[in-house]
Amino acid sequence: MAAIVLKSLEEIELIRESALIVSKTLGVLASEIKPGVTTLALDRIAETHIRDLGAVPGFLGLYDFPNTLCMSPNAQVVHGIPNETPLEEGDIISIDCGALKNGFYGDHAYTFAVGTIDPKIEKLLQVTKASLYEGIKSFEEGKRLGDLGHAIQKYCEKEGYGVVRELVGHGLGKEMHEGPEVPNYGRRGTGKKFLNGMVLAIEPMINMGTHRIKQLKDGWTILTADGKASAHFEHNVALIEGKPELLSTFQYIYEALGISSSEEVPFRKEPLVI
Ligand code: MG
Ligand code: MG
Repeated sequence: MAAIVLKSLEEIELIRESALIVSKTLGVLASEIKPGVTTLALDRIAETHIRDLGAVPGFLGLYDFPNTLCMSPNAQVVHGIPNETPLEEGDIISIDCGALKNGFYGDHAYTFAVGTIDPKIEKLLQVTKASLYEGIKSFEEGKRLGDLGHAIQKYCEKEGYGVVRELVGHGLGKEMHEGPEVPNYGRRGTGKKFLNGMVLAIEPMINMGTHRIKQLKDGWTILTADGKASAHFEHNVALIEGKPELLSTFQYIYEALGISSSEEVPFRKEPLVI
């Protein structure tokens, strides 16, 4: 993995712009996700929206990925390829989206329910998203990568869930994947120290059952080894004056779905205007 690159406040604002383009795109998709829609149709909507906002899709062509969105339903963890299979009532769909503008990337992800889902799977979604904020809370001056990973791991394993080991978060900037690697597991007090100017994509990938995964023959799709559901939530976060500052937001999704939430408030210096 590439080196760790610390960013200036100006560069952080450019990453925020790209991250918010992804946030807006996920908000548009939130209104479109329903039984019968295909992941390929959602992919086209996302690509058009990103280009309309003056950016280019961050994943399209990256390592030869064929689409704008990684679309990973149900037991797929990440890196699923959009296709013509319609979503069904009770499915979940993890959508990971990237955008590139002004030379900087945004990269974040959300797992959506399609219609009404099993309460046990709803809980997996809630716990995975809450674990993301547990991780973000640990991204502060004086702490280390192992503290962040430990916070996410502890929060999810107490529910009996599996924390994927092979896939991790990362630094974000002029490259989609910069250093450091950001595992969702770890030991307190170990790993690299957090420094002001770091920008991380923090992204727990949490399985209902075993943490083990396998890959489809398409060379991309990662799914759970036991076929149970998996969830993925990702935010982009900068370390400024010793504190985590959220660059991406789920508020566009919540606005589309009629949800009210104050979960992001502690991680933003100025209130977000959407
Ligand atoms: Mg992502
Ligand atoms: Mg990422």
